[in-house]
Amino acid sequence: MPINKELPVDPKQHIETRCVQAGWQPKNGDPRVLPIFQSTTFKYDSADVLGKLFDLEVPGHFYTRLSNPTLECVENKIAALEGGVGALVTASGQAAVFFAILNLCKAGDHVVSTVAIYGGTFNLFAVTLKRMGIEVTFVNQNNAPEKIAAAFRPNTKALFAETVTNPSLEIADLEKLAKLAHGHGVPFIVDNTFPTPILCRPIEWGADIVVHSTTKYMDGHAQTLGGVIVDSGNFDWTSGRFPEFCEPDESYHGVVYTRKFGRAAYIVKARVQLMRDLGAQQSPFAAYILNLGLETLHLRMPRHCANALAVAQHLEKHPRVAWINYPGLESNPCRALARKYLPDGTCGVVSFGIRGGREAATRFMDSLQLAAIVTHVADARTCILHPASTTHRQLTDAQLQAAGISPDLVRLSVGIENVADILADLDQALALL
Ligand SMILES: *Cc1c(COP(=O)(O)O)cnc(C)c1O
Repeated sequence: MPINKELPVDPKQHIETRCVQAGWQPKNGDPRVLPIFQSTTFKYDSADVLGKLFDLEVPGHFYTRLSNPTLECVENKIAALEGGVGALVTASGQAAVFFAILNLCKAGDHVVSTVAIYGGTFNLFAVTLKRMGIEVTFVNQNNAPEKIAAAFRPNTKALFAETVTNPSLEIADLEKLAKLAHGHGVPFIVDNTFPTPILCRPIEWGADIVVHSTTKYMDGHAQTLGGVIVDSGNFDWTSGRFPEFCEPDESYHGVVYTRKFGRAAYIVKARVQLMRDLGAQQSPFAAYILNLGLETLHLRMPRHCANALAVAQHLEKHPRVAWINYPGLESNPCRALARKYLPDGTCGVVSFGIRGGREAATRFMDSLQLAAIVTHVADARTCILHPASTTHRQLTDAQLQAAGISPDLVRLSVGIENVADILADLDQALALL
């Protein structure tokens, strides 16, 4: 089990170097490339050592549901990128969001979340968590702090937001929200999937827990599902609101997480309770693929941003485009927040409406040749999706409106091809309308 409290990261190392080098540090004669430790279990010479591992007395791996050397290297790399004390990779982004909440909440508890979030997360919060007895109040994150503050209750355990919302592309005012969460004694959880730590590191703005769907830019090639939870190590769990962090855990021989694991209490607890009991583990092969994606993340993100900005500027002037939303555009209402939190670019995703509404949007999409219609976003290939009829189809019109998604919205995920080819494809499809 990786229970080290301090990660072996050079604090002076730049993020680009961490993308390439962090995590796997081969010793003399070791493989140069992170190996896939495709093994469910690990051999020990004595029952005594294995017993100590089970008791979390010594670090080491014993069963891949709990930890594995390939996964550990990728976890350490992502923690180093986000600036956290530890990370836990999961089978998907959904599992990461679910575990991040469940590590804090039990039936009877409450969460405040911004309403403009990923459709899958909305469903998890509004339906599945509710069934489990965890209630979520949705707020408009652009409201004044006093108005958002009214949603907090004595049993609130977290505030949740997305740095750049999928698909409405709002920018969260991270400092404002972190202050609100901390003012109410709860951690601020941020889904940082769209910007990735290359463009924004929410921990630097006060986030306590960062989650990702690594399925998106981190993998970046649409090859493998995955998620990750990163612990900043900054939240104080001993206020009395989170007794399960500072009272003995009977399921682990009375371990007290804050006492034994210090700043890594949250992430160790997520691993040894939730991953042990629920088992949404990432496979070593998936983590190997994810690591390859991470090695070029710092090269891909600027290209995604530059291409998306060029596409947004082009579409903004196009007579067949009714409206366009890209926080990199000067005309965008989130421009000031984007400049503050995402000075190097927001992401490669652009959303817009076609004149003629839902029907014209569908015809436009069917005419594209380079941009593919896929249920995906944030990979190297340009792709397009109509959220109202796919990812968000479970939402009512009123819920769609609240989440900032109009029926004519198409979400274009701009890839890293030559931008002239992307523009030509969009133009020929628009010309056919
Ligand atoms: C895709 C996505 C998720 C869910 O991730 P999966 O890997 O598909 O389970 C969560 N949050 C955001 C912002 C996403 O874009």
